[in-house]
Amino acid sequence: MASHGGSAATAPHCGFRPGADRSRPPAPGDLALPVTGAKLLTSADGQPLRVVDLPADTDWVPLGTLDGTPAWATELSTAEDLPGQARDWASLAAEVPEPHATLAGRALAVMTWRRTHRWCGACRAELTDLPGETARRCPDCGLYVPMQLSAAVLVAITRPGPAGRADELLLVRHATGPTGLWALVAGFVEAGETLEAAVHREVSEEVRLPVDRLAYFGSQPWAISGPGVLLAGFTARAADPHAEPVVDGQELTQARWFGLDALPAELPPAYSISRWLIDATVTAARR
Ligand SMILES: [Zn+2]
Repeated sequence: MASHGGSAATAPHCGFRPGADRSRPPAPGDLALPVTGAKLLTSADGQPLRVVDLPADTDWVPLGTLDGTPAWATELSTAEDLPGQARDWASLAAEVPEPHATLAGRALAVMTWRRTHRWCGACRAELTDLPGETARRCPDCGLYVPMQLSAAVLVAITRPGPAGRADELLLVRHATGPTGLWALVAGFVEAGETLEAAVHREVSEEVRLPVDRLAYFGSQPWAISGPGVLLAGFTARAADPHAEPVVDGQELTQARWFGLDALPAELPPAYSISRWLIDATVTAARR
């Protein structure tokens, strides 16, 4: 995982750092990430716009810093008469460096959260922003409303291949979404559940297999399944090397073992932790 995730962001001014600092107003050269619906406005080459590119009366929301430069989001009802082009997160993530993709994902997540958390869920008063936090509070009843993450797990399950052949990896096809893709078993974590328990439950529910030797791999903020999703990746071994997966036909349409030297071409995109897990599993098997 050394080449992925937050490892590049350990230096003070390197990579993306989330934040909510409003103590200094946006400067003309700061990064600007206008959100319109589920899309982001960028320059023609996918790079972020600058604050100076938008009208002076724009209402900015702090996102953090990218390589030390403050970044700001705003919500636009229309992208007409403004510079740049509207891009969805997947097409942007496929093109730009990972810290920029992570910043873009945070812009979409924060603006979606603000749009869907305007009113107090307990007493219906209008919520107010808390300085320095991505959180709001109700002025009437005091309810604290932080932006919350949904955790999801995914797991690369392997088993020994036939004698003299490579190990095998379990891949599945979903009934909805990109149905042609061979993906990993995945699902959201339930309240009251550990990440590890979620892996065991999802594998049991989706393909009815027991697994062991569960090991944490890494994580990725993910802007496609919904706002504020954090994916946690694991590796595991099939507890019974002879067991075959069984799918319900509802959530999954197919599940099968592939030799690590004969994986299908329809794999998750290069910017996804699913693909990092698959590639790392192939690399580990070659050692
Ligand atoms: Zn309230």
